[in-house]
Amino acid sequence: MIILKNNQLVQREEAIIDMEDRGFQFGDGVYEVIRIYEGKFFLMNEHLERLQYSLTETGIEFDIKKGKLAEQLEDLAEKNQIDDGAIYIQITRGIAPRSHPYPTEAIPTLMAYPIPISRPIKLQESGAKVILEEDVRWLRCDIKSLNLLGNVMAKQTAKEAEAFEAILYRNPEHVTEGSSTNVFIVKDGKVITHPANNFILNGITRRYIHHLSNQLGITFEEDVFSVDELLNADEVFLASTTSEVMPVTQIDDYTIGNGEPGSISRKLLDEFFKHVDTDQIRV
Ligand code: PMP
Repeated sequence: MIILKNNQLVQREEAIIDMEDRGFQFGDGVYEVIRIYEGKFFLMNEHLERLQYSLTETGIEFDIKKGKLAEQLEDLAEKNQIDDGAIYIQITRGIAPRSHPYPTEAIPTLMAYPIPISRPIKLQESGAKVILEEDVRWLRCDIKSLNLLGNVMAKQTAKEAEAFEAILYRNPEHVTEGSSTNVFIVKDGKVITHPANNFILNGITRRYIHHLSNQLGITFEEDVFSVDELLNADEVFLASTTSEVMPVTQIDDYTIGNGEPGSISRKLLDEFFKHVDTDQIRV
């Protein structure tokens, strides 16, 4: 496997991380996962803009526009012959003697490499089972930070329950998102999802679904909903770069709708692929 480390393409064996890299010691870094369909990056600009947002919010001095990251990622995908998959990119604050405050001299470490991914078609057809978990994460979930322990622990609980995802809630009145997905409910024909604020990651797929809803004439609302509203929704679905649109048919012991993927979720999933090969989409 060929890896992009800082500005160089190297073999995996050469992509060594220093023990005092702040990403390793503090989770002091940010990341992105960008999907590739049929050899083409999907919504690359949006991912790079969000990466810049995460860098700016964490005070990591790295200007994506200054470099040639987009071209380097294209090159990386080509060298690894990725047709259907994804590229993972992380940028940490860099290497410095271990001490909490931001070091003044550290140079950010960038690492990018391909991760194997395939479409979760079977589960999209049957609908997924998920569980509910309390959201115990920090209050800057808008930053795509390497600190994922809260997300990792929630996903592990889901795995142990043989569920696809854990849907998180701050309190019974406030459902936020999944451990690695955004959450949507459909009620009376309207798609509703959590507002893009500090409680959630503003998913690129979430934004794409907003765009698709507009195209299809489906009302898209950003509003907080409760656990009760979630369980009594006509449809529930999740969205992320890797799960695309994932209908949810069961939450803990509750069946959603008639236990089959709902019609609006299916419509959005069908529409998803009418546009993935269009270079012009901006969401
Ligand atoms: N929320 C969280 C917590 C996530 O980790 C992800 C996946 N990156 C998402 C939402 C979905 O974001 P995206 O559509 O950009 O993959």
